[in-house]
Amino acid sequence: MIVNDNIKEINTEDSVFKKIKIKKSYAGLGLFADEDIKKGEKIIEYIGLILLGDEASEVKSNMYLFEVSNNKTINGSVRWNKARYINHSCIGNAESEIRKGRVYIIAVKNIKKGDEITYDYGEEFFNEYIGKDCKCKANKHKYLSKSKTK
Ligand SMILES: [Zn+2]
Repeated sequence: MIVNDNIKEINTEDSVFKKIKIKKSYAGLGLFADEDIKKGEKIIEYIGLILLGDEASEVKSNMYLFEVSNNKTINGSVRWNKARYINHSCIGNAESEIRKGRVYIIAVKNIKKGDEITYDYGEEFFNEYIGKDCKCKANKHKYLSKSKTK
């Protein structure tokens, strides 16, 4: 397996912009705000091993692969990627945003200290890994009706 070894270039402290805590949530562990966060603010960067070109197809598929572009995927399954603790929600208070080849989790609502940080993982992920088992707090789960089309 070829993995680009640019982990050392990443200072993991620099990838966290807001005070956060990892705690028990409805779906295992989750990431929680440890201070108030305003809409539009960067919370954390999604980091991991950088896979370029075909390297991603050589890695065993896992829930933490984040495709940044055709040519670049982040394997975020590493422990030092705290963003991997963020759970999916059909009504998330944050979203993932790609900026210059990097992935940031940005607040889309004002988040209060103590709130769990969640974002919508997207339809493809939802159908593959969550489906009918979504435990998020939404009254109506976003993709559920469509995911029955198999
Ligand atoms: Zn849901």
